[in-house]
Amino acid sequence: MSNLIKEKDQFSLVDQLAGESELSRGDLKTLIDTRNDNVAEYLFEKAREVRHAVYGRDIFIRGLVEFTNYCKNDCYYCGIRKSNLKADRYRLTPEQILDCCAQGYELGFRTFVLQGGEDPHYTDDLMTLIVTNIKSTFPDCAVTLSLGERSKESYLRFFKAGADRYLLRHETRNEIHYASLHPAAMSLRDRLRCLSDLRDIGYQVGCGFMVGSPGQTTDCLVDDLMFIKEFGPHMVGIGPFIPHQDTPLSGQPAGTLELTVFLLGIIRLLEPRVLLPATTALGTISPTGRELGVMAGANVVMPNLSPVGVRKKYLLYDNKICTGDEAAECRFCIQRRMANIGYHIAISRGDHAALQFQTSRESQVQAALAG
Ligand code: SF4
Repeated sequence: MSNLIKEKDQFSLVDQLAGESELSRGDLKTLIDTRNDNVAEYLFEKAREVRHAVYGRDIFIRGLVEFTNYCKNDCYYCGIRKSNLKADRYRLTPEQILDCCAQGYELGFRTFVLQGGEDPHYTDDLMTLIVTNIKSTFPDCAVTLSLGERSKESYLRFFKAGADRYLLRHETRNEIHYASLHPAAMSLRDRLRCLSDLRDIGYQVGCGFMVGSPGQTTDCLVDDLMFIKEFGPHMVGIGPFIPHQDTPLSGQPAGTLELTVFLLGIIRLLEPRVLLPATTALGTISPTGRELGVMAGANVVMPNLSPVGVRKKYLLYDNKICTGDEAAECRFCIQRRMANIGYHIAISRGDHAALQFQTSRESQVQAALAG
């Protein structure tokens, strides 16, 4: 009987979250700590309703170009951290990056995500050139950057060159937890400063975190969810923590599929219009992880456009999937997987719902310059 009452309370928390797009700290904690399969199914049903109302059954695809695996940082969880001397380092030239985009365009991608470690080789001048080349060659496409922490001036230069979006996971909104995952040279304050600069400039901004990273408690997760609600990002990338064998956190248990998809459902209800990827890490811990992510409310997938020759070198964590597949294989594999669960790939930029009818990009740049 007590279990039934508890479950009834849980269902009403989901209803409240779906109706009001918010919950108190205490209620979020209760929802996470006392979740069960029935409540999860109910949460996903509500999350799908919201997602269908905003984005229908479209899945937005992003072509991921992992252009450098050099990094000056040393995050304890990351396979390409600077202290990992076993990492086989590479950099793509501007021409190689443009080739990846050209291949992606043929395959129907209208967003390119340039992702790399924090690599000083890619100066502001070089990144500006790369972004300008892509935008002038593919003016109907969006460019997303994921290059880590830079100055506000750098972010503004890239935006003026045409970059539309920026992904920068905050990793954890809890100071103590952040300090346990990063060396002393890195700080949560800097990370949050970058996110706020990006938003002020006018980017569509993405934050996010790992689920199940060592030391993470439910309170940490609630901190992350409250931060998402307060910051109002356009995108949220979450995926399970997966240890990499050549890092200080090797041997730590991975995050779970079950908790990651539960949190995807919560995030969809907290931020109904958010762009929410079913990440490659989710597909790595379970063969149907990305499908389950979509069924929990996700609406974005990011197939890889990096040249096959470098894919195995961009290993942030162990056993990453799709490292041997050609771009076309990944693209059509995703299409089949999504069709199997009743969704279809959209050939579009896939902007955030609030921005689809906004003013022209030129006036956004003007506004950023005036600011
Ligand atoms: S997580 Fe990012 S910043 Fe940290 S070491 Fe890896 S690539 Fe560098």
